[in-house]
Amino acid sequence: MKLRASLFILASLVAQVGCRSSQDDSKLNWGHLNYNALTPSAPQFLINQKPGEPYRVCLPQYMKNDLPGVEAEIGAAINVWAQALGRNIDVQITTEELPRASTGEDSDSLREKYYEICGEEFDVVLGYVGLGSQTVGETGVSWMVNGRGEVMSFKRHLFLRDFTLTPASRSNDRSWQSLASRTGTTTDAQTLVTQMTTNPKIEVEVGGKALALPVLTHEFGHVWGLCDQYEGPSNCDPNHSSDHKALDAIMAASSNVAKLYLTEDDLIGIRELAKREGYNQHWPDTTDIINAKSKVALPDVRYFSLRSANFDGSKYTLDFGVVTGKAMGQIDIQYRTSEQGEFRSTGSIIPLDGPVEYPQYSYQLRTSQKGLQFRLVMSPGDSQEEAAKAPLYSEVR
Ligand SMILES: [Zn+2]
Repeated sequence: MKLRASLFILASLVAQVGCRSSQDDSKLNWGHLNYNALTPSAPQFLINQKPGEPYRVCLPQYMKNDLPGVEAEIGAAINVWAQALGRNIDVQITTEELPRASTGEDSDSLREKYYEICGEEFDVVLGYVGLGSQTVGETGVSWMVNGRGEVMSFKRHLFLRDFTLTPASRSNDRSWQSLASRTGTTTDAQTLVTQMTTNPKIEVEVGGKALALPVLTHEFGHVWGLCDQYEGPSNCDPNHSSDHKALDAIMAASSNVAKLYLTEDDLIGIRELAKREGYNQHWPDTTDIINAKSKVALPDVRYFSLRSANFDGSKYTLDFGVVTGKAMGQIDIQYRTSEQGEFRSTGSIIPLDGPVEYPQYSYQLRTSQKGLQFRLVMSPGDSQEEAAKAPLYSEVR
């Protein structure tokens, strides 16, 4: 039997998707990968993963060291898509001592090297690799088919940009950060999936620290079978895409406002894929879920944080961010002179007349008085009820 299988192998095929980081998001729509290889029997796509079948991930020790808690994030990046379909994927992660990519090493050669160490039984190998221009992540797969076109084996990589080998730019160095490092809280994959689906949140890139989770979620979206949602050369199937605009999909370009949830556009895209002939054949009990309305309840105040207030002897520089989905009145910048003192307004107001996206706002206040404490108070102009629900202040000491 083993000999026959190798005799059937006729062709080795390769497909690759590189993913950009950009603020350019003018026309977006969900869609499915425009590959002939995306069929209901192609095992290299997660959409065809069967119930109970383990999904095996080979993780480099260096990535685990760099991103504490990354195993939970990998599990969540796979299962947040599965959850949208009423499915659950059994993700099994094995950590190996894998060498870092060298300068100029390409993804294909690194993938082959990693498979040699990990073993052929893995569904994906993860790692960091040097990537060009604005690309922050990439997934690619090679596979072997027999004479009947059936996939006999495949090797897939999912690599994040190695910012040491290929810095984002000369002036602006970035590095990856896990959510556990950012928040100081470790969690498991299931809890993360629950958070991403019931409590959709935004995090902001601070100090060049880019969250890995949204990029992992985007790349695993490709592994499920979805295409990129930004303009330019597109990998979308014209027969399986909408013309519906969505400006903020996970499958759109990444930005320094990181979404920790799937948008409505993403949910529609993955459910439309499952609805196509043959793609839900192994999950017959989930038809109600894939036919459900794809609704995401985002809070009106999506991000509001005073991150620091630094004094240099003549002025305070306040670093904060605010992202809202609608007009929220205004932000009053307040201060006090001691721990027990009353907060008073500095007289500085930031109007929030409509939806705003100011992830990195810097505000300077001239004074030589030492030891001031600040807070920001968001106060809706017209509705006290809204005020009760919104996070009302952001305070640092
Ligand atoms: Zn992409």
